[in-house]
Amino acid sequence: MSKFPALLNEKYDESLGKLQYPVFDVFINELKFACVLYQRTSEIHFKKLFLPVMIYPWGTERRFNAYVNYLRKRFGYRMQKVAIDAGFTCPNRDGKVGYGGCTYCDNNAFNPSYCNANTSIYEQVEEGVRFQKIRYKNAVSFLAYFQAYSNTYDSLDNLKKIYEQALAHKDIQGLVIGTRPDAIDSEKLKYLSELAQDYFVTVEYGIESCYDKTLRRINRGHDFATTVKAIEETAGFGLPVGGHLIFGLPGESRDDMMEEASIISQLPLTNLKLHQLQLFYNTAIAEDYLQNPEDFLLLDYEAYKDFVIDFLELLSPDIKIERLAGEAPPRFIVANQWDIRNDQILNGIEQRMADRDSWQGKRFS
Ligand code: SF4
Repeated sequence: MSKFPALLNEKYDESLGKLQYPVFDVFINELKFACVLYQRTSEIHFKKLFLPVMIYPWGTERRFNAYVNYLRKRFGYRMQKVAIDAGFTCPNRDGKVGYGGCTYCDNNAFNPSYCNANTSIYEQVEEGVRFQKIRYKNAVSFLAYFQAYSNTYDSLDNLKKIYEQALAHKDIQGLVIGTRPDAIDSEKLKYLSELAQDYFVTVEYGIESCYDKTLRRINRGHDFATTVKAIEETAGFGLPVGGHLIFGLPGESRDDMMEEASIISQLPLTNLKLHQLQLFYNTAIAEDYLQNPEDFLLLDYEAYKDFVIDFLELLSPDIKIERLAGEAPPRFIVANQWDIRNDQILNGIEQRMADRDSWQGKRFS
């Protein structure tokens, strides 16, 4: 792995003299074909170079097992998600499990503007598809992403009607269903596994933390054993399982969070989203932070890059990474506002991985 040319410029400096700038580069299997302009004495030269490229076990040259590449490989093109707000609530809000919800929860902070629970599912899909086709010119196929609140928290009959409205849209290839680990059962999973015969269906659970003391403090209303059970049962039905983990929750040290890499690696997870804690206005966790700032390990962007890379090195290379950090509009955030777009965050982390010659699973055992 150390043969991977992490910094092209250094390589070219050695062999060509002063590099001007790469003109373009193309990957062909395991060779990188690069065209560069360079200067030797006073003359400018043009040269084609072939460089070996490290292909990681997940089949790409990216230094982590990117979920987006997995989807592209599986479908043959980029698959875009369309968020749906189906008007669900949450057992941690309506009193079944608790009131008030998780202390960090503010669904408004991530619900896209085109998402409106007052319109029908089909209309939301239609609007979301239109929106994404403008945003991503080559977007052709979509997954309906049931994102807001707990999207399995209803009777099976009602869930069928809701999901099937989304699947009725010609551009929808499948479902991504975000929910809580205590809002699923074998009857629902059986139905979803039957749907999965014809569509791509994945269930995404909020894990948030592997520690019961943290789950209690953030008022999750369930313990980690419930999370493990839901993930294992879902995988047992042959469904891909996603998970969501938050870094920086109160009372967790850096070592606690690093330890989660090996705990998570034991689970039959297909994909994982990683988020830094974002403190939203008018949430209980923002109040907790104001009262007990010493309990929160909030990392700035530079420190977070190294933190998340350390975590990836300890994580199983089999788990696909869907997200490395979160982004919310600045008006929602109380503290530690990075003010950097997701694509820039991702580029920064990948560049730092190259600088460190790091890759997912490098220290996984
Ligand atoms: S389970 Fe999800 S929707 Fe419910 S309160 Fe917690 S974060 Fe919010």
